[in-house]
Amino acid sequence: MAKYKVKNMSGTAGQVPPYPYQNLSWLEYWEKMTGHKASTCSVCGCSNKAEHGGHVKRVDTYFDPTTYIVPLCADCNNPNNTKEFYVDCDLCRAY
Ligand SMILES: [Zn+2]
Repeated sequence: MAKYKVKNMSGTAGQVPPYPYQNLSWLEYWEKMTGHKASTCSVCGCSNKAEHGGHVKRVDTYFDPTTYIVPLCADCNNPNNTKEFYVDCDLCRAY
């Protein structure tokens, strides 16, 4: 596991994982790609249940434009939450 500073991305509702995983939820896709079982929200300091695979972007490096998926609870997976936060989990590329 590793810590990353990330930010929620907006405008990702309605997107589905890439072929051949388009029938998986983003959370299932994260589990598939990382080999981990999502249990709690990956946000540091949050112990809610992970319910969504949230789209995030790293803000601790300027050189990584990749969209990543991380397990988030319903509260943390909020596009109106524009704060930067730390997650402690493996990242999975969204595309
Ligand atoms: Zn949370």
